[in-house]
Amino acid sequence: MDKEQKAFQIAIDGPAGAGKSTIAKKVAAKLGFIYVDTGAMYRAMALYFADHGVKAETAGKNPDLFKSQIETLADKPDVTLAYRDGAQVVLLDQKDVTGQLRTEVVSQMASKSSAIPKVRTKLTQTQRILARTHSVVMDGRDIGTVVLPDAQVKVYLTASVEERARRRYLENVEAKKRGVPKTEEDLNLELIKKDIAARDDQDMHREVAPLKRAEDAVLIDSSDMTIDEVVDAILDLVKKAGYVPEGK
Ligand code: C5P
Repeated sequence: MDKEQKAFQIAIDGPAGAGKSTIAKKVAAKLGFIYVDTGAMYRAMALYFADHGVKAETAGKNPDLFKSQIETLADKPDVTLAYRDGAQVVLLDQKDVTGQLRTEVVSQMASKSSAIPKVRTKLTQTQRILARTHSVVMDGRDIGTVVLPDAQVKVYLTASVEERARRRYLENVEAKKRGVPKTEEDLNLELIKKDIAARDDQDMHREVAPLKRAEDAVLIDSSDMTIDEVVDAILDLVKKAGYVPEGK
């Protein structure tokens, strides 16, 4: 990176299934930035909680118990990101758990455990350190509002619930074809839709760092846009924000 140019930050927030990760990865590849999938970090923490006996249902049945179970465990795991052949891998206590993060159990646990402040403080710190030392495209729910409030480009990416559910369903079908284990729920469009709506509700109404559009974020509704159209719209915003690619 040019010494004169500090790390450039692109924050992409939005609800589950809006296409954030696909788009953020492409934008990062075009610009030579690293892609930081913060949802995967919350999922890695959730995997750790599930493996240590915590149940997502407890959050509804006995919120105080759930909170204390999560708080007891939250400091213990080490969640870091590494990059292999340009792809992000998630390390939980140094073990690559990338392939275990996209199950319904982990999704539901991540949705509940990410509402606990201790979990957020821990991951927010790691995310800020990454963005200080590297130019990043970071996606999540609270990047433009909390993690990187000074990001040079902020996008709030959304799409209708129907379209998001349809995309997640197709992703799961494709993953299954590649041999990734998928449950019956992962392949049921109606259940996926219900799950997405429930996670939106949970993310938008939690007390700490709820999902919302930052005042200075550009709203992009991708329901009727192709991936490349969204990528180009974001690259345009990057240009307008005055980013000068290396060597130019
Ligand atoms: O984006 P993804 O669906 O992988 O995120 C999993 C869960 O992690 C979300 O449902 C959300 O509750 C939580 N999350 C969050 N803040 C972020 C990213 C994800 O609370 N920055």
